[in-house]
Amino acid sequence: MSDIIQLLPDHVANQIAAGEVVQRPASVVKELLENAIDAQSTHIKLIIKEAGKTLIQVIDDGVGMSVTDARLSFERHATSKIKAAEDLFQIDTKGFRGEALASIAAIAHVELKTKQDSNEVGTEIKIEGSEVTSQEVCVTPKGTAICVKNLFYNIPARRNFLKSNAVELRHIIDEFHRVAMAHPAIKMDMYHNGSEVFNLPIANHRQRIVNIFGGKTNEKLVPVKEETDLVTISGFVGKPEYAKRSRGEQFFFVNNRFIKSAYLNHSVSAAFEGLLKDKAHPSYFIYLSVDPTSIDINIHPTKTEIKFEDEHALYAMLRSTIKHSLGQFNVAPVLDFNRDSSMDTPYEYKSKMAENPTIEVDRNFNPFTSDKQSGISAASGKHHTSYKKDAAGSWENLYVGLESEMAAPKSIDNEFSSVEFESAEVTGSLFEGEEKVIGNHTTYQLRKKYIVTTIKSGMVIINQNRAHQRIVYEEVLRNITMASSVSQQLLFPLTLSFSKTEIALLETVREQLENTGFVFGALTMGEVEITSIPAVVSEKEVSILFEQLLSDLENEVPDTGFSQTDVLAKSIASSIAVKTGVVLAPEQQQYMANSLFACTEPTVTPDNKPTFITLTIDEIDKKF
Ligand code: ADP
Ligand code: MG
Repeated sequence: MSDIIQLLPDHVANQIAAGEVVQRPASVVKELLENAIDAQSTHIKLIIKEAGKTLIQVIDDGVGMSVTDARLSFERHATSKIKAAEDLFQIDTKGFRGEALASIAAIAHVELKTKQDSNEVGTEIKIEGSEVTSQEVCVTPKGTAICVKNLFYNIPARRNFLKSNAVELRHIIDEFHRVAMAHPAIKMDMYHNGSEVFNLPIANHRQRIVNIFGGKTNEKLVPVKEETDLVTISGFVGKPEYAKRSRGEQFFFVNNRFIKSAYLNHSVSAAFEGLLKDKAHPSYFIYLSVDPTSIDINIHPTKTEIKFEDEHALYAMLRSTIKHSLGQFNVAPVLDFNRDSSMDTPYEYKSKMAENPTIEVDRNFNPFTSDKQSGISAASGKHHTSYKKDAAGSWENLYVGLESEMAAPKSIDNEFSSVEFESAEVTGSLFEGEEKVIGNHTTYQLRKKYIVTTIKSGMVIINQNRAHQRIVYEEVLRNITMASSVSQQLLFPLTLSFSKTEIALLETVREQLENTGFVFGALTMGEVEITSIPAVVSEKEVSILFEQLLSDLENEVPDTGFSQTDVLAKSIASSIAVKTGVVLAPEQQQYMANSLFACTEPTVTPDNKPTFITLTIDEIDKKF
């Protein structure tokens, strides 16, 4: 019998390969967009007609191709992205199989125009069903424009199986979104049947997401961040209250490549456990960055699935990172308290504080005052205990309580009810609701970070930096709206230098800045003269304040209902608020506590982080 095995002709092999690579118009869109990204483009334009069935065109301003490369790019296994098998483990490009253009050219009419920067003229190639029909020199801008017409023209079965235009368009938009979200630094436009669908300017990740999904998205996002040896996690999760029944906005990107992973999805859901209504799905936009050698992206032809080396560790890390972010944005004090590792043990606290010097206060307001404690103080023979010692005394007192609880449970009851009694005498209620802060009571500072004081139901621990942010924020907002700020004139005007864009940005908030108390002098050649500054700001803070302000203004999304006044107030608040590590005198601590609870929204910072936590007697009791 004669030999029957033959090698398939190229165009048949290409058609078969095309079946794997190109399922629908959206697959072509994905491959072409990815090629444009690999070509280091900064602007990519996608033009489609009839949901890609008649036309898919991608125009980029990337590196382009030489004449030979342009021709070779349509050959199967022709790629510039890997040279040897080892390269497969170091992939940082989207493509590497060298199959896409060959496959697309096998099942459509393709026109390619491309030019490298160094060349005067470009190359134009037309190819139909793998046959090159023309190749010419052409005039074209730097970059590549590929036009794919009449997809599946030679495979009618495929063409007939395409879904309605609405469905195919949806798939294309999904691909466009995925690429756009992974590459916010590339300007990306999309047109369908002659009208603009997306026009995405260069942005950061948050802005890109908002530009795609609409202005309201911004307020729904909670940032997620973690950096370990194994992985860097960044991105956003949607606040639980916005979770949807459909699985719409769920995105993982690994090294800027969109991927699907049921396993990681599960990890996100686990982080949301207990926070979502029945059947609701959280939104997420998670960017993972890992060492390329630790993943295998080669296991699926369309590359949306990848294998991680250490999947279990990744799962755990992702879950705890998201949980932590959600916790930070959840004002529930108990949650936050559980996480607060910097809460000192009494002994540490005591010895630390004992070295520090003294400020005298009225001991009568000690939250833990009881007969027993007075006994201790009296025994030590001091009439005026130092403030710090007194604080230590309070902690000691907790221990005294412990002893007595063991010995005589009844007496501890009395002791704690005396705490409640104390705040029944409250004057000047500063707390909303039933919780009352004693107007002029003892406060003490913990680790130069927290202000601890008492309330009726137990104790409150205030984060000094966050509380001050809230206080300054509200003050600045008030000043801006009522234009009622107090300025301090500088003896020597300050001169700060800015770039053109920065000046333009500052111009947009000039009026608000003036309302906060800034007075600007001459504005010349990128230099701004400042003659007066707000009373709340000190001179040495001014340059930091402007730096922070500019970066905040740059990062906020324009045209999304974001009030620049708000950005400005937040920015000033975060740059001038008292930092952690600053020692506060008792009057300052009290001022802080009182001003905080006089705020309209005392519980959170302007960017929604809790400013204080409370610890009720019940909770304290439970801890014993
Ligand atoms: P792969 O992307 O896997 O390498 P493709 O078939 O998608 O394979 O592309 C083949 C080659 O053609 C690429 O490796 C690249 O060198 C070149 N190429 C394709 N598209 C572009 C483009 N838009 N700009 C520059 N070069 C391109
Ligand atoms: Mg490719």
